[in-house]
Amino acid sequence: MSQAAHRSDQRPADTRSSPRALRALGPFIRPYRGRIALAGIFLVLAAVTTLVLPIALRALIDQGLISSDPAERVALMQEHFLALFGVGAALGVFSAARYFMVSWLGERITADLREAVYRHVLKQSPEFFERTQTGEVVSRLTADTTLIQTVVGTSVSLGLRNSIMGAGALLMLIITNPVVMAQVLGALVLILMPAILYGRRVRKLSRASQDRIAEASAIAAEVLNAVPVVQSHAAEAREAARFGASTEQAFRTAERRIRARAFLVAFIITATTGAMLWGLYQGTQAVMAGRISAGHLGQTVLYVILLLGSVAALSEVYSDILRAAGATERLMELLAAKSPIADPARPRALPAVQGGARVSLDHVVFHYPSRPQQAALHDVSLDVAPGETVALVGPSGAGKTTVFQLLLRFYDPQSGDIRIDGVSVRELSLHALRERIAIVPQDSTIFSASAMDNIRYGRPDATDDDVVAAARAAHADGFIRQLPEGYATHLGERGVRLSGGQRQRINIARAILKNAPLLLLDEATSALDTESERAVQAALEEAMQGRTTLVIAHRLSTVVHADRIVVLDGGTIVDMGTHQELMARSGLYARLAAMQLHDA
Ligand code: ADP
Repeated sequence: MSQAAHRSDQRPADTRSSPRALRALGPFIRPYRGRIALAGIFLVLAAVTTLVLPIALRALIDQGLISSDPAERVALMQEHFLALFGVGAALGVFSAARYFMVSWLGERITADLREAVYRHVLKQSPEFFERTQTGEVVSRLTADTTLIQTVVGTSVSLGLRNSIMGAGALLMLIITNPVVMAQVLGALVLILMPAILYGRRVRKLSRASQDRIAEASAIAAEVLNAVPVVQSHAAEAREAARFGASTEQAFRTAERRIRARAFLVAFIITATTGAMLWGLYQGTQAVMAGRISAGHLGQTVLYVILLLGSVAALSEVYSDILRAAGATERLMELLAAKSPIADPARPRALPAVQGGARVSLDHVVFHYPSRPQQAALHDVSLDVAPGETVALVGPSGAGKTTVFQLLLRFYDPQSGDIRIDGVSVRELSLHALRERIAIVPQDSTIFSASAMDNIRYGRPDATDDDVVAAARAAHADGFIRQLPEGYATHLGERGVRLSGGQRQRINIARAILKNAPLLLLDEATSALDTESERAVQAALEEAMQGRTTLVIAHRLSTVVHADRIVVLDGGTIVDMGTHQELMARSGLYARLAAMQLHDA
């Protein structure tokens, strides 16, 4: 069951998403005040031009058609048509300018928002990703921002335009035809009441459907990342059904929303048409009785159409705004997530070192936030001298990986201290700390990029020559040159697939290129063929040169080369020494060594 589903189910769907939530967009809108003002000007100009149109029409009908002299009539007609075209052309230009400015704002603000949320999420500590599914974040970044784009880029402008036009048409009706106006007002109330009542229901349903979509995205993201596992379990049908169920739920919620809205539309159109025809009927009677001119009637009808149209549009806009309010809230939740791991207010500088970093753990006690009762590390103290190679061994779950996580400050220990070159990691900027550390993870990561750029990830400003040198040291140069396009070969997704040993060597090359004083090495557990194994081993030895190394060791060959071996079990250090010393004691280490150090 997804976390997303848990949380959204707990939320009462109706209590939030008030349009006020859109205020949170303020900081994203403010930088574009100038453009907004400009958009506003064009918006008003376009609306006013639309309101002038009925007046021009009335003039055409009443003055253009009425004159008795045919020659004069033609001239007058031409004049009026010219004027009418002038109004139309102005409307075209102003509308285009308004459209451009407003849509531009929508796209710009959404792009800013997307970038800000992504930038923020990338900085979160692992704790955040334990709570949040990546698929949910991706859905927020795409689906929710698109909703906001609709509102900023379309609905707000539609809303403003229709407010201006509605108010203008109303004003013109009051001036030109108070009696019709009163009737229209009555019709409006009748149309608006159910619209408002139904709006609530639509809002609730649209929020629910947005939730269901995020849920389905979360499922898809998780499963697509594990397709081989799914297929090896022949679980395609099961997974398809799970996604299907979630999508169908989204569909059913959407269906209820659009049905509610369809009823509303049917009602509004029927009621509006009725009201209009009633007005028109009365108008024709008035023209026939000679109480008003034909032009007057034409003008009035146009204003009524404008007024009713803008009211209908406004109710639509309102529901869009509510939808965007919900989306904004969710995005703001993501933006408000505070990482418990942050830079100190005044970070200290690390001393310059040569030949490796000094690392010390001092009575470290740590449990993962999701498991407060169980300590992953319990009172661990360890000093590693510059240039030393220390192997961490122990059964699975002993806490070896946790030591790495704390050194990188992905988490803070509950008590005790961790120091690099004499400075507590809490006193360092995360950037400075992580600059000092190169890591070769167990599952080698290959990005979807060229071989050259994959290695350069270790030091983005490295020259091509530096990259090749690092690849050579990591015994990767040979196989890279044999790839179809050598260093330019695209690796990773939609690229050339590498063997496990080759991937590792790319990761080692990355670490060598980074040239950090502390190397954290998580040896791969899966066995490689002998040749690959030898190449990786040689690469690792190269990587350890002149720096401090902590290695989570699964192989005897690695351990016997270490200066010191630390045996962890159940979150505590149970033994420490060289291979010979530990073997002589015939404790846990001897047993692990007999099993080739593979996780017990
Ligand atoms: P090792 O690397 O020695 O196999 P770990 O350091 O990964 O062991 O794990 C130590 C303990 O912490 C284990 O009991 C493990 O289940 C637990 N643990 C590891 N990672 C997490 C996590 N992200 N959340 C909660 N518990 C964790």
